[in-house]
Amino acid sequence: MRKAESHFIIVRPTDSGYSSKDAATASLNACRAIVVDIKRHVDNVSDRDMNIETEYVCSHCGSAWTERSTEYNGGCCDEDEKGTRETASATAAT
Ligand SMILES: [Zn+2]
Repeated sequence: MRKAESHFIIVRPTDSGYSSKDAATASLNACRAIVVDIKRHVDNVSDRDMNIETEYVCSHCGSAWTERSTEYNGGCCDEDEKGTRETASATAAT
């Protein structure tokens, strides 16, 4: 056995944004439409395996989500840090 190369294509719709629940739905629907179109017709490719994958990103800057929290991504951007300060203030006030 030896190390071998394997190649694949990642198709990522980029026109739906990341800032709202509707954008997430639009992105998923775009992926589903792309899968249907690829399955319908790709020249010189007789078989392919396609999966729609989900990745989690910051709704403000689009950075990969790396934290267990759903509200704080380790300070990936100013808005992420700002949201944490506002949450801490609201908790302290109650
Ligand atoms: Zn961010």
